[in-house]
Amino acid sequence: MARLIDGKCLAAALRADVRRQVAAADFTPGLAVVLVGEDPASSVYVRTKDRAAREAGIDSRTIRLPAVTTQDTLLAIIADLNADVAIDGILVQLPLPRSVDLRVVIEAIDPMKDVDGFHPLNVGYLADGRPNLVPCTPLGVMKMLLHAGVNIAGARALVLGRSAIVGKPMASLLMAADATVTIAHSKTLDLAGECRRADILIAAIGRPEMVTADWIKPGATVIDVGINRLPDGRLVGDIAFESTAARAGAITPVPGGVGPMTVACLLENTLTAASIRRAGT
Ligand code: NDP
Repeated sequence: MARLIDGKCLAAALRADVRRQVAAADFTPGLAVVLVGEDPASSVYVRTKDRAAREAGIDSRTIRLPAVTTQDTLLAIIADLNADVAIDGILVQLPLPRSVDLRVVIEAIDPMKDVDGFHPLNVGYLADGRPNLVPCTPLGVMKMLLHAGVNIAGARALVLGRSAIVGKPMASLLMAADATVTIAHSKTLDLAGECRRADILIAAIGRPEMVTADWIKPGATVIDVGINRLPDGRLVGDIAFESTAARAGAITPVPGGVGPMTVACLLENTLTAASIRRAGT
C-alpha cells in the first residue's frame, strides 16, 4: 500500500512557519485578491486564501467586482494596487469573464507583486532556471516531493497536462531538479504507456479519476493535482485513488493533498515578495 503524502499536514506546518516569520518581521505583508464575478468555486477559493492569509498575520484585502466589470476598470484597479506601498502581493482569481483579456490583465500586474507567478517575466525567469515568484501549485508539489524524500534527480517524471498555471511550470521545476521530464496532453498518442514509464507522475488534467491503477509503474510516486466535483457532490482527483494506492509507492489524496499546499505557498510567495520589495525600498 502506498505511503500517503499528507498535504493538509504539510501545509499546516508551512503556514505556521510563514506566521512565525511574519511575526518576526518589521513589516506586515499585504495581499490583495481580486475576484471578478460570482463563480461559486472561485468565491470559495478566495475566502480560503483570505482566511489563511489573515491567520498568518498577512494584511489581506479582497476586492470583489461584478461580472460586468470592464477590462479598463480592472486595469485601473491593478494600477492602484501596483502603486500601493502596503500591498506586496496581487492575485487575480481565475477564471476571468470572457470579456476580459486574461493576458493583458496578468501583464498589468507588477512582476514583483505577482504572487501567482503568472506574469511573463516570472514565467521567463522560471524557464531560464532562475525562479523569482513561482506558481503556487507546482511550488507546493515540489515541496511535497522533497518532504516525502522522493528521489527527483535522474527520475523519469511525467507531467500530465500542459497548462500555464500547473503543467508547464511543474515541468520546469522538475527539470531544474534534474528529473527527466515528459509532458503529456490531450494529443499524446499513448498516454497509458507514457504513464507506465514514470517514476513520478503528476496528474493535472481535470478529468475525474481518468488515471487508473494499470497506468501506474509499481512503486511510483503519484501526485494528483486534479480537483473534480462529481454529480453526487463528491470531490475526486484525476487519479482513481483506491486502486492506484495499492500499486504506487506514495500518493497524494484529494481532498487534502495538493490543494492545501497551493494556499500555503501563496502565503509563502506573499512573504517572499514582501521581503524582496521591502529590502529594496
Ligand atoms: P486546464 O484545463 O488549463 O489544462 C488541462 C490540461 O490537461 C491541458 O493541457 C489538456 O491538454 C490536458 N488534458 C485534458 N484532457 C485530457 C485527456 N483526456 N488526456 C490527456 N490530457 C488531457 O487545467 P488546469 O491545469 O488549470 O487544471 C488541471 C486540474 O488541476 C483541474 O482539475 C483543476 O481544478 C486542478 N487544479 C488544482 C489546483 C490545486 O490547488 N490543487 C490548482 C490548479 C488547478 P491540451 O493542452 O491538449 O488541451
